Amino acid sequence: MNLVAVPAFTDNYIWMLHDGRQAIVVDPGEAAPVERALDERRLVLQAIVVTHHHGDHTGGIEALLPRLAPDATDGGVIATGRERIAHRTRAVVGDDVVTLLGCEFRVIDVPGHTAGHVAFYGEPAGEAPILLCGDTLFSGGCGRLFEGTPAQMLASLDALAALPDDTRVCCAHEYTLSNLAFASAVEPGNAALADYRAHCIRLRERGEPTLPGRLQTERAINPFLRSREPAVIASALRQGAANDSPVEVFAAIREWKNNYR
Ligand SMILES: [Zn+2]
Repeated sequence: MNLVAVPAFTDNYIWMLHDGRQAIVVDPGEAAPVERALDERRLVLQAIVVTHHHGDHTGGIEALLPRLAPDATDGGVIATGRERIAHRTRAVVGDDVVTLLGCEFRVIDVPGHTAGHVAFYGEPAGEAPILLCGDTLFSGGCGRLFEGTPAQMLASLDALAALPDDTRVCCAHEYTLSNLAFASAVEPGNAALADYRAHCIRLRERGEPTLPGRLQTERAINPFLRSREPAVIASALRQGAANDSPVEVFAAIREWKNNYR
């Protein structure tokens, strides 16, 4: 299974999985970069997978419909069943299983960024697992809470954080450097974070994506997966968290990030 980050807009990635003949794409906010990526590799589009309703994840669906194979998987547009998604042919919710390029992916409900956001988790044979998580988990950060509560988002992130260490985390945005700058403010004493930030700065200087990251790295450096760590709790309390409960800590860190420049 090949995994390709197709750049779109200024900082989106449209993830493409392909086996050399067939492809699926995730959250195509625009069609042209996907069409180029398909054409360059002479791939047939088998499915479009959609995590949530935002336009930068759905805007390219309609233009890609003619590219779908006649025998497209589940009709071709597999999307969260808890939001309005135009052209959806299969609605999925948590614990559903979809087979993409022969690999089973489990659907995980991850409300918070939007109310009906879903993620897809698969274990391709002989390879590290793949998590397609849209705008829920970013490297070093998480999505804004447009439609959900801090408690919902924390539960969603906890569910993702419980996946295997070597899971490849396929986020929908290249926000890593700004996220890691903020993370360093939350946890200035985190040596693993400092090392990872230096690594990501080198990647970006070479024009390379920082993604996919590994889940074990995220657990070590991402403050939104670390609401139970003493250093994160201390920072949250300084930012006005009412107490040291994980939800209060998460909410205070998220609010701080919303206003951080
Ligand atoms: Zn979004």
